[in-house]
Amino acid sequence: MSTDPSSPAAGAARAEGLLQILVCPACRSRLVADVPASELICTNPDCALAYRVTEDGVPVLLVDEARPTRAEQAPPAEATVSAPTGGSAPAAGRPTGSDVSGT
Ligand SMILES: [Zn+2]
Repeated sequence: MSTDPSSPAAGAARAEGLLQILVCPACRSRLVADVPASELICTNPDCALAYRVTEDGVPVLLVDEARPTRAEQAPPAEATVSAPTGGSAPAAGRPTGSDVSGT
């Protein structure tokens, strides 16, 4: 018998122990390990993001890196995170020049 430590599923299997403390960064729901896929799947059906696990067993819990696994691939474009493009600078008050006149 020969064990295969370099199996791609070894990472997810190792990460399975972290599931007790890991939650989905998007919705704070519990995660389940998809060992064959080396992914951590969010248990929230409304979220259902899949986070990949590296070969070292380190789950990449980044929403930006997550892969949506929802059956319905038609998001109503309401959950899309849009970066605030704010170019509004606060009202810059002009410094009050203290006119000190001596002499
Ligand atoms: Zn989630």
